[in-house]
Amino acid sequence: MAIVERLKHDIVDGLRVGRLRFRMNTSSIVYCVGRTAIDTGPANQWRWVRRFLTDHRVSRILLTHHHEDHAGNAARCQQELGLPVFSSALCQTLAEKKMNLPPHRKLCWGTPEPFSAQVIDETMTLEQGLVLRAIPCSGHADDMVCYLEPNRGWLFAGDLYLAPNTKYMLKEENPHLMIDSLNKVLEYPFDTLFCSHRGIVHQGHRALKQKLDFLLSTLETVRKLSKSGLNEQQITRTLLGREDWMSLLTMYHFSKQNFINRLLDEPRKPN
Ligand SMILES: [Zn+2]
Repeated sequence: MAIVERLKHDIVDGLRVGRLRFRMNTSSIVYCVGRTAIDTGPANQWRWVRRFLTDHRVSRILLTHHHEDHAGNAARCQQELGLPVFSSALCQTLAEKKMNLPPHRKLCWGTPEPFSAQVIDETMTLEQGLVLRAIPCSGHADDMVCYLEPNRGWLFAGDLYLAPNTKYMLKEENPHLMIDSLNKVLEYPFDTLFCSHRGIVHQGHRALKQKLDFLLSTLETVRKLSKSGLNEQQITRTLLGREDWMSLLTMYHFSKQNFINRLLDEPRKPN
């Protein structure tokens, strides 16, 4: 039932792991660029991640954000493999506390332990002349960063992409900040996008632009419907239909209503 798959693009290796073979978002990918790993996968898949990191003689971990499917093994990477873990400053703060996860997330990913990260530099030099630039990209999570390799045209996008469109959103996500992040990242040239769930996306710049266009057009439609007098529930039904098994399974943490509600929230500035 578990998923263990390998991905490859140039010198980037990926390991997709997950307990449930269900849909794209129930597995998560750890990428290795030389001896640097980006993210650590979920805690319940440690044995595969450990072997992958050891095989690649990984010497440091960079995190995109604190979520349990990305930072789930960061504590073990430190304790068992002695690896330094780097993250954004906000991720560093969040990582020090035990996460209080709802049951469906514990079931899917396991429960991560707290860890102490060091704050990333804005630009990091890797082997073979590779460079990674950290770009703060809130919206999905306040602490998220993407890593750009400008010379190769690679973007390690964390959870910025996932899909060109969506019907659901987490309660704590913010589509207005996602739009800001997408605009910011799209100012850089890149072609290959490494998504933590979708995998390797060729023509990644175009894919992110599609996502941006989708969010902007949905925002415009939602605002129009709201002005015409429809309430949030009516807008959700009109545009996305009734809630379904996904919303039920996640106890409405990930739902259509969240998506519409968050679009109608006032935009706020990034942290
Ligand atoms: Zn996430």
